[in-house]
Amino acid sequence: MKKGIMNNTRPLICKIVDKWEECDDTFGFVLELPIKIQKAKPGQFIMLWIPGVDEYPVGIAGIKNGFIEIGVAKMGVGTSAMIDKQKGDFVGIRGFFGKPFKPPKNVNHLLIGGGFGMTPLKLLTSSLINFEEMQRVHIFEGARSKNKLMYLEWLENLENQEEIFFHVSTDDGSYGYKGFPTVDLEKFLQNNKTPSVIYAAGPERMMKVIFDLGKKYSNVIDMQMSLADRYIRCGFGLCAGCVVDPTGWRICTDGPIFNTEQLEQITDFGNFRRTETGAKEKI
Ligand SMILES: Cc1cc2nc3c(=O)[nH]c(=O)nc-3n(C[C@H](O)[C@H](O)[C@H](O)COP(=O)(O)OP(=O)(O)OC[C@H]3O[C@@H](n4cnc5c(N)ncnc54)[C@H](O)[C@@H]3O)c2cc1C
Repeated sequence: MKKGIMNNTRPLICKIVDKWEECDDTFGFVLELPIKIQKAKPGQFIMLWIPGVDEYPVGIAGIKNGFIEIGVAKMGVGTSAMIDKQKGDFVGIRGFFGKPFKPPKNVNHLLIGGGFGMTPLKLLTSSLINFEEMQRVHIFEGARSKNKLMYLEWLENLENQEEIFFHVSTDDGSYGYKGFPTVDLEKFLQNNKTPSVIYAAGPERMMKVIFDLGKKYSNVIDMQMSLADRYIRCGFGLCAGCVVDPTGWRICTDGPIFNTEQLEQITDFGNFRRTETGAKEKI
């Protein structure tokens, strides 16, 4: 296969070679690229183009030998159009965009998320378990109910192989403990005094709660959060439609991953986001 670089402005046409129902209203896909491309880093995203319908950002769950795994949760017209696609159909992708997670060495890695936020956390998990100086990896996943939990089987298998510690919760108690994933996260922080880094991806309100919680513990040396619950148009900084106040940072190029120091400066974080017209609305 010919080597190439993914293009930021023109979609690369890929074939859907696998599709499965990951959980309720959420499907996993593997896309085959026509060229051998550079590696994506956990937390980066692509723009997925469904010809004749729309183009929107999605995270990267896996990448290997010219194949990309993504996870798409049904929201509206664009995501439904992808879910209607079958093996053998073609879509376009642009990327890779954005700043990735940056895991330091010799810390506890605490990954917490829900919904499609689990997509970048899947790639982060895979890279952490191959990380030589890896310390403990804890995954805290929460969902409304069992049928909304992404990557459940994959994460349980990793826990059975003693690769990770998996803490699972549901709002209705249909799987794991009943309650929010922050309950076990807080227990962990109370009982473990060694340095920890929190990586979060999911609804922004949940991330703000995690951020305020993490700040109470001095053993949390950094928090890295994916501000992906936001509108992105071009993906490479040109339109500035995803800009946050008061810093003027663009989610697509300066994020979507921001660390503690940056999150402290973004007053929009957990408070306001922009619609597709650029207008601000309360979260
Ligand atoms: C960095 C990033 C990574 C993402 N990763 C994933 C992922 O891995 N899997 C996944 O299923 N979803 C992901 N999303 C969300 C996904 O882009 C939206 O759910 C999708 O665009 C909705 O389009 P729609 O036409 O189905 O729904 P619509 O009915 O158009 O919108 C439903 C919701 O999605 C939001 N949305 C619509 N268009 C966009 C857009 N261009 N950018 C961001 N949000 C939009 C709307 O504001 C609204 O809140 C990600 C978003 C961002 C910003």
